[in-house]
Amino acid sequence: MSKHIVVIGSGFSGISAACALAKKGYRVTVVEKNECAGGRASFFKADGFMFDMGPSWYWMPDVFEWFFKEYGSSVAEQYDLIRLDPGYRIYFGKDEITDIPASISELHDLFEQLEPGSGKQLQQFLKDAETKYAIGMKDMVFKPCNSIMEFAELRMVKALFTMQLFTSLRKEVYSKFKNEKIRKILEFPVYFLGALPSNTPALYSILNYADLVLGTWYPQGGMYKIIEGMQRVAEKMGVTFMFNAPVTEIVTENNKTTGVKIDTHFIAADAVVAAADYHHVEEKLLSQPKKNYDENYWDKKVFAPSSIIFYLGIKGKVKNLLHHNLFFDQSFEQFADEIYTNPRWPANPLFYVSAPSKTDPSVAPDGDENLFILIPVAAGLEDTEQLREMYFDKVLERIEAFTGDTIANRIIYKRSFAPKDFVTRYNAYKGNAYGLANILMQTAIFKPKMRNKHIKNLIYAGQLTVPGPGVPPSLISGYVAAGEIEKALKN
Ligand SMILES: Cc1cc2nc3c(=O)[nH]c(=O)nc-3n(C[C@H](O)[C@H](O)[C@H](O)COP(=O)(O)OP(=O)(O)OC[C@H]3O[C@@H](n4cnc5c(N)ncnc54)[C@H](O)[C@@H]3O)c2cc1C
Repeated sequence: MSKHIVVIGSGFSGISAACALAKKGYRVTVVEKNECAGGRASFFKADGFMFDMGPSWYWMPDVFEWFFKEYGSSVAEQYDLIRLDPGYRIYFGKDEITDIPASISELHDLFEQLEPGSGKQLQQFLKDAETKYAIGMKDMVFKPCNSIMEFAELRMVKALFTMQLFTSLRKEVYSKFKNEKIRKILEFPVYFLGALPSNTPALYSILNYADLVLGTWYPQGGMYKIIEGMQRVAEKMGVTFMFNAPVTEIVTENNKTTGVKIDTHFIAADAVVAAADYHHVEEKLLSQPKKNYDENYWDKKVFAPSSIIFYLGIKGKVKNLLHHNLFFDQSFEQFADEIYTNPRWPANPLFYVSAPSKTDPSVAPDGDENLFILIPVAAGLEDTEQLREMYFDKVLERIEAFTGDTIANRIIYKRSFAPKDFVTRYNAYKGNAYGLANILMQTAIFKPKMRNKHIKNLIYAGQLTVPGPGVPPSLISGYVAAGEIEKALKN
């Protein structure tokens, strides 16, 4: 009988770990607290609309290709993927619209229009970013980062310098580009996903490469199609999924786990992958001496934003929106201060609107619009119904003013999701949406470790450990965690 591994959590990292473990010949059971797979990428249907609850940007298509190929399938076999062109729209002000084209030559022309001479700089910036992306994907993101020794070969040391770990993204962008809009285009992925560009290593220009070169894609039917494809692949390899099954304890004996408990129901395991939020696992599922970190450690960590989200069904279409729309008409500096430096409720937030029904008629009733509004806010704030409504009114007013369309009287479905809901639905520490901020001291070997130092057959996976937040990194995290389980069971 092959060894049995329990995976806690069925987000991208959990299903990825399950697939990799099944391929290695283990019996695998994924135990999920919620009613369906996907974690932060789950979905719901209401009044003829289908809403993806979390991720909406499909970046780094190569990682999804790699994933499905690893298990004898392909993206094309699982879902119909299309490239968006333009990739997205930015509202810098009422009549200041910039659409980011898919074609590099059109992007070059756009940069030249915004800042004469910047096209050449863009070429160099993206070439450097491509080199970093290639090194990062080949040599770095698949490392478990247990020790600095993993980076000790000369080739790796050289690579660390090429990766510009010790230069900030801000310095890199500001030294090459003077135009405010260009600077915002290049800094927004870092702001939204993690931290101040002045604290973020220039390594993260790999996100600009992913954005501007590899492009923005969309799986027809919605982002949940990826999860459905992954679950299909996992089940085909024999993985069992249990839903509505919140783990309440990781059972340990000496320095080993023997399985998990869902209340009084015990599931025996030879090893456990904890792919639920790291802090929740340590605080709620393990007893004091078995934890890697204490509350003080987590309290000092810099978290990426949480979010206030609105899922809206609109009667009829909304003018002047594309599939992805960023509202960058307010100060980035103030936004950064309100999220990272002095966390508080934002006065005039930047926000994002996705309208997947612009590309995909299947996510809304005929002729209607499906809108997803996301306002990044600091993790750890106490949200109330009144605050949600106050922000709803603020952003709706801006959307109406900028698009020149009326929406308020055409809302036929509305649901909000805010920090409190992240805690209830995902057991998210401080209601975090995307894990830890991408600052140097929270990168690679400085991230919370995959291995539990007291229990050798317990391995963590997911956005709070290596390589980090986002869908592609979470997929990779599960894969790396499976490798760590194999090593632990051999020793
Ligand atoms: C609103 C939002 C928008 C985002 N947008 C993007 C985007 O556009 N592109 C992108 O690449 N990334 C995006 N991200 C980030 C990305 O979604 C996450 O990094 C990724 O989905 C995290 O996957 P995970 O497996 O680490 O965690 P999760 O998806 O959170 O999975 C953890 C799972 O563990 C389960 N769980 C928790 N406790 C228990 C327990 N006790 N027992 C059993 N199960 C438990 C949870 O229910 C959950 O299903 C977004 C995230 C959010 C929240």
